[in-house]
Amino acid sequence: MSVTLIRGKPIAERIRTEVAEQVKEVGHIGLVTVLVGDDPASDVYIRLKHKAAVEAGIDATDLRLPAETNEAELLAKLAELDANADVDAILVQLPLPKHIDEAKVIRALEPAKDVDGFHPFNAGQLYLGRQTLVPATPLGVMAMLTEHEIQLDGARAVVIGRSDIVGKPMAHLLMQANATVTICHSHTRDLARHTLDADVLIAAVGVPAMVSPDMVKAGSVVVDVGINRTEAGIVGDVDPGAAELAAFMTPVPGGVGPMTIACLLQNAVRCARYRRGDIDYPA
Ligand code: NAD
Repeated sequence: MSVTLIRGKPIAERIRTEVAEQVKEVGHIGLVTVLVGDDPASDVYIRLKHKAAVEAGIDATDLRLPAETNEAELLAKLAELDANADVDAILVQLPLPKHIDEAKVIRALEPAKDVDGFHPFNAGQLYLGRQTLVPATPLGVMAMLTEHEIQLDGARAVVIGRSDIVGKPMAHLLMQANATVTICHSHTRDLARHTLDADVLIAAVGVPAMVSPDMVKAGSVVVDVGINRTEAGIVGDVDPGAAELAAFMTPVPGGVGPMTIACLLQNAVRCARYRRGDIDYPA
């Protein structure tokens, strides 16, 4: 059986076209991205997000603050953006410099402007099964699974990784799609015992090729969220040899990566619509 590659690019392009239409409907959508310091990886991510937003017709501002910015200064800046009616969506690029408390900064955002879906209100809504603003990467994975009509109801799904950005929200979305979900992490014993049972396996670890082919169930769906910079270029968390066993697999690069940006833009539209009262928070 040959594997079907779940490519992110064509799905992401379609979503971005849809977003551009929605931006026209809404009229004006203001997005401010905030980068503190000059971390090179963050700089690349911000540039990509900014470019995609501008292409979709979003009024995007790329706000750069020096690495020495202290917590009070950043909080004051966010309070200003929270109060600015022209700003619908705010993205604070993580990680922040060590001297700034990330949790405090995320809590300071107005939940309706929290385009990343990291604020405790939005995380809590997801926990309660009321998806309001959900982190873009797991949203992107769900869109890829939907596109390929992957059966999640009753499926055994295993998520490797329990970060607030990917693993945890991913597990909630899969559970809400009626999968039976196992979350594995750095303390999980005998990881392969879990992964071999997975109809749907999501790897979000950050360790190159840590999922070897012998950890993958034949005929399963394998989603590789990992983006690891190596001497051989960008590689995922899944050994490409797993494609010999999987029925569906996402490539790296060109898999989940483009979906994250597209879903972030979708979230910006959602922020604007919540704020304008076009849509209500799920009850
Ligand atoms: P993280 O470092 O916050 O979390 C990694 C998780 O992996 C942790 O929960 C940890 O418990 C688990 N883990 C570590 N070693 C393990 C092991 N040996 N066995 C089992 N679990 C283990 O990382 P993150 O932010 O969730 O990102 C994970 C990966 O996804 C990274 O490669 C990151 O670059 C990538 N990522 C990609 C996108 C995208 O758009 N494609 C977006 C976000 C993150």
